[in-house]
Amino acid sequence: MADHNRRQLRRATIVFWVLLVYIILALLWWAFSLEQQNRDMYRLRKAEIAEKLTDTTSINYKNAIAKINEQKQRNTVKYISEGITFLVLIIVGAVFLYRSVRRQFRLQQQQQNFVMAVTHELKTPISVARLNLETLQRHHLDIQRQRKLIQGSLEEMVRLEALINNILISSQLEGGAYPASKEELNFSDLVEDVCRQFRNRYPHRQLVTTIEDQVALTGDSLLLKLLVSNLLENANKYSDKTTPVQCIVKKDLSGVRLQVSDEGIGIPDAEKRKVFDRFYRIGNEQTRHTKGTGLGLFICKKIADYHHASISVTDNAGRGSTFTVQFLPA
Ligand code: ADP
Repeated sequence: MADHNRRQLRRATIVFWVLLVYIILALLWWAFSLEQQNRDMYRLRKAEIAEKLTDTTSINYKNAIAKINEQKQRNTVKYISEGITFLVLIIVGAVFLYRSVRRQFRLQQQQQNFVMAVTHELKTPISVARLNLETLQRHHLDIQRQRKLIQGSLEEMVRLEALINNILISSQLEGGAYPASKEELNFSDLVEDVCRQFRNRYPHRQLVTTIEDQVALTGDSLLLKLLVSNLLENANKYSDKTTPVQCIVKKDLSGVRLQVSDEGIGIPDAEKRKVFDRFYRIGNEQTRHTKGTGLGLFICKKIADYHHASISVTDNAGRGSTFTVQFLPA
């Protein structure tokens, strides 16, 4: 968290606790004063009765005392129950407020990180492609080097396109404005296609695929491709380049299952649900070494929801993570 934000959060937390303690003390003081008043009233009334009915053994005296005693007890019960109700309401409200303020600060911080990350990720491919094109324009390079520069620029454009797709589609899905279609698809071919593109992009990376033939699915092909490609990109990004990435497509009685596994850094149990939140990235700016926007898995979750599928992450046997998308049977 940035220093400025952390200071702001600390200040808000201190103000919050001071106010809360003040309100609770005021409530206790209020309850104590009322009870004190109740007792004073009882004493005054008792003295008044004793003045009027001098015979303290008479039935009238006893009845009058019993009446004010009952009144005093009723008041005590009323003050205690009102006090407890107020206390519970104040504590529930305070917890709610505290959590929503912290959530707001976290979201604000994540949005700032996102803007920084996107600015950086948008500028890098453009600068690299521009530099490559300028080099091609100014120098007479041999065909080999020309090809290398063109290939480099193309890769940067693919990265840029993926990033722009993620940003656009996430805001469209969030606002319910994405014109998603539902068509009969050959899911096996679709996944094979994305895996082929992955192999072209990372020729040195080992991608092991076990894709059952002719698995059919109803859905939106662009969204499903984005889902598979985001999971593969993450598997590539968060694991050592020498370890294999695995992609499985299976169909059984419980429906179609897509699994992407890696042998990378893995995801701690406490973060396994949070990684699907918008802008959420594990760690902080100091400890994070990979580039990213925190949108990839958020989109995967949205796409899974759109297809009435579930998405979850578990530890991969041995090392790393396994992402599973389970589509319901047709
Ligand atoms: P991004 O990769 O752009 O940061 P994502 O939404 O794709 O955003 O992922 C959110 C976070 O989840 C990542 O920042 C990373 O910390 C964690 N994560 C995602 N995929 C993996 C993975 N395969 N292995 C380990 N951590 C992962």
